[in-house]
Amino acid sequence: MDTKSQVIPAKKRIALVAHDGKKQAMVSWCQSHLDKLAVHQLYATGTTGNLIEKTSGLAVTKLLSGPMGGDQQIGAKIAENEIHMLIFFWDPLASQPHDPDVKALLRLAAVWNIPVACNETTADMLLSSMMMTTPIERQLPDYEQYLTDRLAL
Ligand code: PGA
Repeated sequence: MDTKSQVIPAKKRIALVAHDGKKQAMVSWCQSHLDKLAVHQLYATGTTGNLIEKTSGLAVTKLLSGPMGGDQQIGAKIAENEIHMLIFFWDPLASQPHDPDVKALLRLAAVWNIPVACNETTADMLLSSMMMTTPIERQLPDYEQYLTDRLAL
């Protein structure tokens, strides 16, 4: 499929998700990046979002809890260009009842070419990038062009 470019704005909509075994890590990470996170718009799965709000004071748009459909909601928002970046501390040491949703979320983040961090070190690096406060151009699959080509067959 051809690609097209799309711009991620300077003020980003960031999704935050942490499995139970990584929730404390997410809370600590948010607390140590309060100023940098506060300039963006935050979304989270239900339990993660409630914890972040309570412990950091950051405003978070809370979706459903992950196992109840929250991961899928975030995936849909990525596909609709409503979420531009994903910080997803998934737990590599515990199996999850909603593993198919976890995989689907990571897959959509790759399809839509958004920045993703799955651990604190990568999240630190993302947040320290100059690109966090400037628009970023990204390449996406050009579905409209694909459809036009298919319909012309
Ligand atoms: P939670 O969901 O924030 O509601 O716990 C996270 C997840 O497991 O996807």
